[in-house]
Amino acid sequence: MTNTQISEIKDLLSTPQNIVIIPHKNPDGDAIGSSLALYHYLKDKHAVTIVSPNDYPEFLKWLPSDKNAIRFFDKQNKQSKRVLEKATIVFLLDFNALHRLGSDMEKSVKKFDGTFIMIDHHQQPDPITEYIYSDTSVCSTCQMVYHFLEKLDAVNKVDADIATCLYVGIMTDTGSFRFPSTTSTTHRIIADLIDKGADNAQIHNNVYDVNSYGRLQLLGKALSNLKVETEFRTSYITLSQAELDEFDFQKGDTEGVVNYALSLDGIIFAAIFIEDVEQKIIKMSLRSKGAFSVNQFARNHFNGGGHDNAAGGRSEMTLEETVNNFLSLLPTYKTELLRSDEV
Ligand code: 5GP
Ligand code: MN
Repeated sequence: MTNTQISEIKDLLSTPQNIVIIPHKNPDGDAIGSSLALYHYLKDKHAVTIVSPNDYPEFLKWLPSDKNAIRFFDKQNKQSKRVLEKATIVFLLDFNALHRLGSDMEKSVKKFDGTFIMIDHHQQPDPITEYIYSDTSVCSTCQMVYHFLEKLDAVNKVDADIATCLYVGIMTDTGSFRFPSTTSTTHRIIADLIDKGADNAQIHNNVYDVNSYGRLQLLGKALSNLKVETEFRTSYITLSQAELDEFDFQKGDTEGVVNYALSLDGIIFAAIFIEDVEQKIIKMSLRSKGAFSVNQFARNHFNGGGHDNAAGGRSEMTLEETVNNFLSLLPTYKTELLRSDEV
C-alpha cells in the first residue's frame, strides 16, 4: 500500500462512513480478532458492522464485542444484505479471494461498488481492489492491522479492547508465538498490546483452557486414528462424521489437532481429513515444516491454499478415496519432502 493510498484512506475515514468489515468463512482467532479490533477502532466515528459468512467458535465468544456488532450472513441474511447495500467502505480481513466467503455471500459482496480495502497475509491475492495491504511475511492479519493503525498514526487509539482482540489473532496464528513467522517485531507489538491492557495470562486461559470433555475425547479419537508414512516424513489423521457425532462435535473442536500429527519427531508434513456429511466434502488442514509448501500442494490438488506452512483444502470424494488420493500423491513429492531443511 503506497503512501498516497494511505493518505486517500485517511481522507476517506476523516468523514463518517458506513463501514462493513468482512472476515473469511469459518473465521478463526485471527479473522475475528482483526475484525473486532478494527471495529472497535472505527466505531467512534463511523457506523460499523462486521458481516461474517458464518458463526465463530465458542472459545472466542468472550472477545470484546457489542450487541449487533456482528451479523452472520447465513443466519441473518436480510440484515447482512441490508448493511452491505448501505456500505460505503468494505474491509476484507484475513483472506484474499472472494470465494473464501462461500458462493452466496460472494455474490452479494461482488455487487458492492464502493471502496474495498483488503488487509491480508495469505499468498497470491486476487486483484479485488487497488487498496490492498498484503504481506505474506507477517504472521497474522492482526499484526497487519496494528501496522495499518501505525500508518494511520492511530496506535495511540489502541485501548484494552482493541489490544485484546489483536493479541488473540497474533497468538492463535503463531501457535502461541512459536512458528517461524514470529519475529522480534511481533514480540515488540505484543509487549505494546500488554502495556495497552491486553491481559496475556487471562487471554491464553480463555482460549486454550476451555476444553469440553467431548473435545478432549475427540482429540483422543483423532490421536488413535493417527497414521505415519515414515518414508515420506508424513503423518495424517482422519475424523469421520460418525466419530464427530459420537463426541458431540462443536465448531472449533478440531482446531489445532493437525499440529499433533506435525509434532511427531522427524515428520515435516501433516494432514487432517475431516468428513462433513452436510456439505458433502472432506475438509483438509495441511501443515509443514521447512521448505515444503502446503499452500502449493493444496492449490495443486485440493482446491485450496493458505500459507507455505499452513494451508487448507477440500475434496468432494469420500473420506477413504480422499486419503487414498493423498497417499498416491506423496511419491511425486518424495524428493521435496526428504530435502526439507527440518530434521
Ligand atoms: P486451517 O487449516 O487452519 O483451516 O487453515 C490454515 C490456513 O489456510 C489459514 O490461513 C486459512 O485461512 C487457509 N485456508 C484454509 N482453507 C483454505 C481454502 O480452502 N482455501 C484457501 N485459499 N485457503 C485456505
Ligand atoms: Mn490469519
